[in-house]
Amino acid sequence: MERIEIIPLGGIGEFGMNCMGIRYGDEMIVVDAGMGFPEETPYGVDISIPNFDFLEEFRGDLTALILTHGHEDHIGALPYFLKKFNLPVYTSRFTMALAERKLEEHKMLNDVLLHRVEPNDIAEIGNFKIEFIHASHSLVDCFSLAIKTPLGTLIHTGDYKIDDTPVIGAPYDLKTLAKYGDEGVLALLADSTNATVPGRTPSERAVIPAFEEIFSETSGRIFVSTFSSSIQRLQIIFNLAHEFGRKICVLGRSMQKNVEIADELGILQIPHNTMISFGESRALNDDEIVYLVTGSQGENRAALWNLATGSYKGMEIEKGDTVVLSARIIPGNDKNISRLIGHLYKRGANIIEEKRRLIHVSGHASQEDIKIMVETARPKYLVPIHGEYRMLFRHKEFVKNHVEGYSDENVILIENGDVLEFDERGARVLENRQLNRTFIDEDSSGEIEYDVIRERKKLASGGAVSLVVTVDKNSGVIVGEPKISFQGVAGIDLTNGISANARQTITEAVGAMPKAQITDLNLFKENLRVHLKRFLQKEIGIKPVIVTTIVEV
Ligand SMILES: [Zn+2]
Repeated sequence: MERIEIIPLGGIGEFGMNCMGIRYGDEMIVVDAGMGFPEETPYGVDISIPNFDFLEEFRGDLTALILTHGHEDHIGALPYFLKKFNLPVYTSRFTMALAERKLEEHKMLNDVLLHRVEPNDIAEIGNFKIEFIHASHSLVDCFSLAIKTPLGTLIHTGDYKIDDTPVIGAPYDLKTLAKYGDEGVLALLADSTNATVPGRTPSERAVIPAFEEIFSETSGRIFVSTFSSSIQRLQIIFNLAHEFGRKICVLGRSMQKNVEIADELGILQIPHNTMISFGESRALNDDEIVYLVTGSQGENRAALWNLATGSYKGMEIEKGDTVVLSARIIPGNDKNISRLIGHLYKRGANIIEEKRRLIHVSGHASQEDIKIMVETARPKYLVPIHGEYRMLFRHKEFVKNHVEGYSDENVILIENGDVLEFDERGARVLENRQLNRTFIDEDSSGEIEYDVIRERKKLASGGAVSLVVTVDKNSGVIVGEPKISFQGVAGIDLTNGISANARQTITEAVGAMPKAQITDLNLFKENLRVHLKRFLQKEIGIKPVIVTTIVEV
């Protein structure tokens, strides 16, 4: 029987790491390859990616990777994906420019086939016919996807909001979406990030009045920090700076890179003579300059952090400066942002946050946008994606309660690792596989094995014990006392005798072992570890990492 399988590898029940396999017959496409930012930094790791090994069993079926847009949680894992599965990539011009930079950094640009597509292009990939539908979002050049298969059409929204008046580009292409709605849509896979928010998401233009006010009432220097990918927001700042007779200087690598790409592609219209270098900016009066800076999330190495802590070369934030934080707080960043704001206040800066004025709007669909989406696509099944479980759940509840024709039967909640199957009889979740995420070392860009993380976790919670035993090679008899040292283990002090008892236990255990067990060094080591582990668990109830060393004399 014909069937479609939907296999999310990430982005469902969590923020970030968006990636989904879609399989029809013996062909499979993958939508997005995003990275994640674990909320609690797990033992020195800041970045995670989906576990692509999961796709190994489908290696022969994989035909293409489609990127909906250029946010890191959709393309951040691209190099790691392509290193494992070198598939042709289909995406928009801006996303492609970002992807190219990324692949260049990994020195693999020449080994990858990138297809640039325009809105309403149709890519025929085996049995899949994919139309790229222009979507509005906080970024530019974003797509929703209409994925046509012989069994039916899927709509994958990517990230979206229904913006009727974006600053750059056209409004969301509801016309094309409606065409598919008329033809019949089997399933709508839809962004849930803002499913808990009532009403419509304001247009990107909604922030202009507040910025106008800030520009007109400020006589000192203005620093605006926003996501470096928010090209529309940057356009607004460029326009206002020009209008109010200020120049713009861009600080921070990712911001400079994105401005350069968007300028080259003609997406960002920089008014004549408005952008200047850092050196030039230092010669201007305070009311003649705006600095666009990275670091709205309080990132420790970003430009704003350095300016706020006196560690930026050649300049610092001073009394009289106005700092505009034009971004939302990404979950997990609250503490860093709070620390950043503390530093800025200490320096006497005036801080303008999202809470106080409308200087930021979301890029994601709120409930009334969701309603428009569902009523236009009119899918047989709705599958909430992109978001924490709470948001997926509220997405389902909202549509059940506010859009006619939707109930528990046709709004399906799935999780990462589920296989959601559609066929002529209906839809069902077949299995759930446990997916471990893969962690990335930011400095080397290499993968960190899951075992390493587990080891770090054990070290952090239980500490480490090192055991050194010296044995006579010929007789198999222990020489002297075993040496045991503890690092970061709770419940150990010099007076309570645990250390001495541990030594005693090991000595006795060795005494009771037959010679054959001692001369086999691996077996001996493992036996010692198990003895010490049992002892520590019984005596102080802990499970530290135990490192055993045997010295032969
Ligand atoms: Zn996005």
